[in-house]
Amino acid sequence: MTRSKVELHAHLNGSLHPARLWALKAHHERRFPHEPLPVFPAWFTPPISELQRRSLTFDDVFPLFGVVQALTDHPEAVAQAVEAVIDDFAADGVRYLELRSTPRAVPDRMTKLQYMRTILETMETRNARGQILSKYLVSWDRRQSLATAEETLALALDLRAEFPNTLVGVDLSGDPRSGDARSFIPLLEKARHHGLKLAIHLAEVPNETETWSILTELKPDRIGHGTAIHPSLGGSSRLWPALLTARIPVEVCLTSNLFCQSVPTLEQHHVVHLKAAHHPFVICTDDQGIFFSPLSQEYALVQGLLGSSNEAMDQLALEAIDYTFASDSEKDTLRRAFQLP
Ligand SMILES: [Zn+2]
Repeated sequence: MTRSKVELHAHLNGSLHPARLWALKAHHERRFPHEPLPVFPAWFTPPISELQRRSLTFDDVFPLFGVVQALTDHPEAVAQAVEAVIDDFAADGVRYLELRSTPRAVPDRMTKLQYMRTILETMETRNARGQILSKYLVSWDRRQSLATAEETLALALDLRAEFPNTLVGVDLSGDPRSGDARSFIPLLEKARHHGLKLAIHLAEVPNETETWSILTELKPDRIGHGTAIHPSLGGSSRLWPALLTARIPVEVCLTSNLFCQSVPTLEQHHVVHLKAAHHPFVICTDDQGIFFSPLSQEYALVQGLLGSSNEAMDQLALEAIDYTFASDSEKDTLRRAFQLP
């Protein structure tokens, strides 16, 4: 039987499987028949064989992000994408999902507000059907200006009044080599003051000063990746104890880290150190559509690496509920559902 799980680090665009993208392409061609679309990479025709999957590199899959953006340029397509991603997670045993996405405006087609509202409405409609509970984390791209993040926050706070149970947090993401997360701290504090939880992509590349400030000043509710914190992976003997002291749960995405080469080998992955230090962590996918790594496969990878029993993995899945941005009563409901025989 599929293990019940929560998924806490998933980007909407990267969670779309090839077959889902082909369906979105067909939809776009029907809706806007005279509009040229970006060409899919040559290898990208489902079903994609295991051999093809294994030979892919980041350079192969990166162009897909541009394709996804072109396909989801109007509210109908955004709704279709959200539904597809939720269905795929549910089919893999995910009972609770936090999905993140950067709001985007497309001239004459969609405002940022429409983009966010579409995600929230689609989630609430789907939540009413049961089986899986989904929530939205609004992403800020660290390459964008503070003014853009501030505008997004204002929209999020307006929408939060309408969707208080579904719009639950803010994510800071984007190319870790550009921008400075420290400049976002005052805005992130403001988001927190208004009741939004904070999930921050941190230390994907070595950056001692930024990582130190986020860990010790901001103290977010969760950290995404946190690869370059342990001294063996580009962190330092100052950062690692700071993480352990802060007890901030880490969202661990093995396949993504290996694919993006932020961790050289599976055996060197920092989840080994997190486990040894009894530090809280959650197994997540990041971009399961593009990295071909459903959450159940990520659990299997961690199990193999840590040599854990099935019972220990069930326990890990159960503990992950503690680190969600769900309400206390939702957490209780999830714990009961996970413990059903
Ligand atoms: Zn991510």
